Amino acid sequence: MISGNGMAPELVGIDLTERCFLRCQHCCVESSPRRRDALSTVDVAAVLEDCSRLGVAVLAFNGGEPTLRPDLADLVAEARRLGLRPLLYTNGVLLYGPPW
Ligand code: SF4
Repeated sequence: MISGNGMAPELVGIDLTERCFLRCQHCCVESSPRRRDALSTVDVAAVLEDCSRLGVAVLAFNGGEPTLRPDLADLVAEARRLGLRPLLYTNGVLLYGPPW
């Protein structure tokens, strides 16, 4: 889908990490606890900046499991500051904490 300005996709997804602590059979990114973050904080911030400049409306933070990134709150705040609508694709486990 194209955004309101007709130039950029309405939604862009960023794979923040390839790490995850679950082992779902349907996982399409072959995540594991030993994988690494795909992009540094600076790299993600640069992508956010580009998306904002192009007129992207929604920025989806994907993984792996994005809540494993210690900088996730900062990246969400930066997306909002740039006028992007952040969307989080998470398995939700770390949002509630133990016991699961
Ligand atoms: S929770 Fe998501 S990222 Fe983690 S193993 Fe399952 S499908 Fe893959």
